[in-house]
Amino acid sequence: MNKGKVIILGGGVIGLCSAYYLKNRGFEVTLLDKGDFSSGTSFGNAGMIVPSHFVPLAQPGMIVKGIKWMFDAESPFYVKPRFSRSLLDWGWKFYQHSSEKHVKGAAQLLKELNLESKKLYVSLCDQLEDIKIDEKGLIMYCQTQLALDEEAALADQAMKLGLKAVVMDNQQLNDLDPNLTFNVKGGVYFPEDAFFSPKLFLEKLKSDLKAAGVKMVSHVDDLKFVVHEDLKSIDTNQGFFSADQFVISAGVWTGKLAQFLGLNIPIQPGKGYSFTIEHPVETPSICSILTEAKVAVTPMSEGLRFAGTMEIGALNFDVDQRRVYGIKKSICKYFPSFTIKDFNEAKIWTGLRPCSPDGLPYIGRTKKLPNVLLAAGHGMMGMSLGPITGKLIAEIADNQSPEIEISKLAVERFH
Ligand SMILES: Cc1cc2nc3c(=O)[nH]c(=O)nc-3n(C[C@H](O)[C@H](O)[C@H](O)COP(=O)(O)OP(=O)(O)OC[C@H]3O[C@@H](n4cnc5c(N)ncnc54)[C@H](O)[C@@H]3O)c2cc1C
Repeated sequence: MNKGKVIILGGGVIGLCSAYYLKNRGFEVTLLDKGDFSSGTSFGNAGMIVPSHFVPLAQPGMIVKGIKWMFDAESPFYVKPRFSRSLLDWGWKFYQHSSEKHVKGAAQLLKELNLESKKLYVSLCDQLEDIKIDEKGLIMYCQTQLALDEEAALADQAMKLGLKAVVMDNQQLNDLDPNLTFNVKGGVYFPEDAFFSPKLFLEKLKSDLKAAGVKMVSHVDDLKFVVHEDLKSIDTNQGFFSADQFVISAGVWTGKLAQFLGLNIPIQPGKGYSFTIEHPVETPSICSILTEAKVAVTPMSEGLRFAGTMEIGALNFDVDQRRVYGIKKSICKYFPSFTIKDFNEAKIWTGLRPCSPDGLPYIGRTKKLPNVLLAAGHGMMGMSLGPITGKLIAEIADNQSPEIEISKLAVERFH
């Protein structure tokens, strides 16, 4: 049954997963992308699927850490000081949400969304032939007692939420991943996390969508929205596109697009880098995070990927070599078999995380224009939350109440 036409703006993981679930429900789907469906943040990230990430970026202590790190050119978190009304407004909202109360309110929902999304990934990867998801979990490696104590407290919270988490000494860590030499005080193991190659998954999803009849139009630019009570169509350099419903899932560029429709959707870019070593000196079998350095390490089909740095407010793809060097130095400190030379040839990839000020995505219908839905602002966990976001968007487009209570994700919550 044809349930009507839907146009999706933006073909990263969020747009592609939305297309998949909308198509499955019987909608006629067209995806429009400003690039070529491979230039977004979704393609070079660390590929971690993370039920363990139930704490939003807006959390107590983050502002103080951010200020301290502003004076360290190699630090993993950074806000470039500059006058920008939108950055100031975002920062104020971030400050207001950096509280225990907010973290407590968000944790249950993020856990539920991430667990459900992981389940969906497992069945999606089953359907997409040749795509393997590694369900071996994630290790948080800690070099200092302070970080280990903080991670142990987080493990405690995780268990209270019903997640599995194990605090481990070096012997246990070694038994868990004997392929790796590490220099740490201990760690925490989250067995319910998983990892894979985001690029391979998305390439396969794209070809399956095309085969299923989803129209994909790349290099779409010069957008003009035609609004009469609701959104009727979009005039572009690639032609005129009309539909019954529209989904905006354009990552960091969503705020700008929403502005054209009179919507205030605060999103700041959180710039990060990754690089992949095809033949590393050691290959871990489980993905990990170097806790103090905030560096992600993922074994995937392309090689061993390292990712890190969060520079808030930088809407550009410039590479700051000092921060990349900070990532490389930390890897060698945690994993002493590696030397800086190992990374000499590594090509640096830049990605922009779409960060909302409360660390929660925007998912749902807009009140202002009820045939416009938004799916954006997933920050550090967009890859992880791709399938559940797509499923929720399809349910909402189909006028069904979502299975998960998502009022905290209301699109116009900052209006
Ligand atoms: C270094 C790094 C590591 C990360 N690691 C992880 C991880 O391990 N796990 C995890 O869950 N998340 C991770 N993330 C976060 C994750 O990558 C993002 O949250 C996610 O990719 C966002 O997906 P998206 O579809 O919203 O945006 P994007 O992937 O950026 O896609 C947006 C798309 O919109 C298109 N677009 C832009 N403007 C327009 C327009 N005007 N019209 C039409 N199309 C437009 C773009 O071309 C692009 O294709 C990481 C991010 C970084 C930077």
